[in-house]
Amino acid sequence: MNHILQQQLIDLAYIVAIVLFILALKWLSSPATARHGVFAGEFGAALAVIATLCDYQVIEYKWIIVALVVGAIVGIPLGLVPMTAVPQRTAMSHAFGALAAAMIGIAEYYVRVPNISKFEMVEIALEVIIGSLSLTGSLIAAGKLQEVLPQRPITYKGQNIVSLSVLGAAIVIAIWLMIHPGARQLFPAMIVVSLVFGVLLVTPIGGADMPTVISLLNSYVGLSAALLGFVLNNKVLVVAGALDGSSGFILSVIMCKAMNRSFTNVMFGAFGQVQASAAAVKEERTVRSATAEEAAAILGAASKVAIVPGYGMAVAQAQHKVRELFDILTKKGIDVKFGIHPVAGRMPGHMNVLLAEADIPYDRLMDMDAINPEFPQTDVVLIIGANDVTNPAAKTDQGSPIYGMPILEVDKARTVMVIKRSMSPGFAGIANPLYYEDKTLMLFGDAKGFVGDIVRELTGGGH
Ligand code: NDP
Repeated sequence: MNHILQQQLIDLAYIVAIVLFILALKWLSSPATARHGVFAGEFGAALAVIATLCDYQVIEYKWIIVALVVGAIVGIPLGLVPMTAVPQRTAMSHAFGALAAAMIGIAEYYVRVPNISKFEMVEIALEVIIGSLSLTGSLIAAGKLQEVLPQRPITYKGQNIVSLSVLGAAIVIAIWLMIHPGARQLFPAMIVVSLVFGVLLVTPIGGADMPTVISLLNSYVGLSAALLGFVLNNKVLVVAGALDGSSGFILSVIMCKAMNRSFTNVMFGAFGQVQASAAAVKEERTVRSATAEEAAAILGAASKVAIVPGYGMAVAQAQHKVRELFDILTKKGIDVKFGIHPVAGRMPGHMNVLLAEADIPYDRLMDMDAINPEFPQTDVVLIIGANDVTNPAAKTDQGSPIYGMPILEVDKARTVMVIKRSMSPGFAGIANPLYYEDKTLMLFGDAKGFVGDIVRELTGGGH
C-alpha cells in the first residue's frame, strides 16, 4: 500500500474515532444511554490506537508490545477496584495520562533539538509543564483519597506566594528555552520545577474537594494531550484532548455549583479545616430512633415515598436490597421515587450508577430540582446513608462550612427516616440538625442490613 493511501485510511479512522468520542460524551450525559456512551468511547479509543499503530512511521513493534503488556498489568487491577475507590482510581488514570504526555513531550524535545522552532518550543514546553504538574497533582490527589496522605488541607503562611513563584520559575525557564532552544541543561530543571508545583498545588486542598480537583486535573491532562497533538501533528489527539479538557472543566464547574463553591474557594479555600472542630462539639440533644419493624409499618402505610441515597449506600453496597424494597413498596401501590443530589456519594453520577446496576427504572430517579417541590406532599422520606446532601444547616446556618450548598429539602416531608450506623458526621464533618427534628426517626444500622430487615418485615418474614 502506498503511503498516501495508508495515510488517508488512517485519517478516515481518526474521523470515525472523533465522531465516536463526541457521541460518547452525548450518550454519557443520560443514565438511559450511558452504557452506549462507554462502548462508543472504548471503541473510538481502540480505533485511534490501531490506526496510529498502522502509521508507516512506526517501524518496530517490539517496544510497543512491551508497553502494552506493562500497561495491561497495571491497568487490569486498576479497573477492578470497588466503586467506592473509583475517585482515586480516576486520579491514578490521570496521573498515567499526564506521565505519558510529559514523557512524549520530553522525547520530542531531545529528538528535535537544536532544530526546533520557537513555536514548537512553546508547544513542547507548555505540554511538558502541564503534563508534569498534572502527574504529581494527580498522585497527591489519589494519595489523599486513599488516605495514605493526610486528607486535611496542609497550609502555611505565604503558601500561595511560594506556589506561584515556583510556577513562575517554570514559565521563566520555558521562555528562556523558547529564545535559546539549545539550552538542553535547562529542560530537566523545567520538568523538576513543574513536578514540584503539582505537589504544592494539591497539598493545601482538603480531601472533600479532591473529586473537584481531579476533574480539574482531568481538564489539564486533556489540554496537555491537545498540545501534544499539535507537537506530533496528530489530529485525533488534538480533538480528544480538547474534548477531555473541556468536559473535565465543565464537570468541575457543575460540581462547584452543586456545592455552592467557587473555583478560588476550592483551590485556595482550605475547606476541611473548620470541619474537624465543628465535629468535635459535643451534642447534648437527643434523637428518636426506631426499629426495622416500626420503619416497615410506617413505609407500608404511606402512599408517597421518596428514597434519598448517599455515600453510605455505596459503602454498604445496599443498592440491590434497595431495589427489593422498591419492588415491594411499588407492588403495594405506593408511589416511590429516588431523590438524587448532584454530589451525593463521592463522585458525580455515583448514585445513578449504583441504582442503574440494581436495575431501578431511570424514570424513578429525580434530580434535586425536580424532587424538591414534591417533598411537601411526600409522606415518608427514607434516607439511606446520605448526610451532608440533606443537611438543613446549608440553608439556615451562615457559619456552616456548607452554607449555601443546595440541598434535598427532605425536612419538608411529613416523616423522615434516616438509616446510618451512628451519629457520626458525613464528609463535611459537621452535625446534621435534621436528626433532632420531631419528624425524624433514626434507623441505626448498616444500610444493607437495615434495608434487608425492612424488606423482611414487609414481606411478613420478620417473625
Ligand atoms: P456523606 O458523606 O455526607 O454521609 C454519608 C453517611 O453515610 C455518613 O454520615 C455515614 O454515617 C453513613 N454511612 C457510612 N457507611 C454506612 C453504612 N455502611 N451503612 C449506613 N450508613 C453508612 O454523604 P452524602 O452522599 O450525603 O454527601 C456527599 C458528600 O461528599 C458531600 O459533602 C459532598 O459535597 C461531598 N463530595 C461529593 C462529591 C461528588 O462528586 N459526589 C465530590 C466532592 C465532595 P455513619 O458513619 O453514622 O454510618
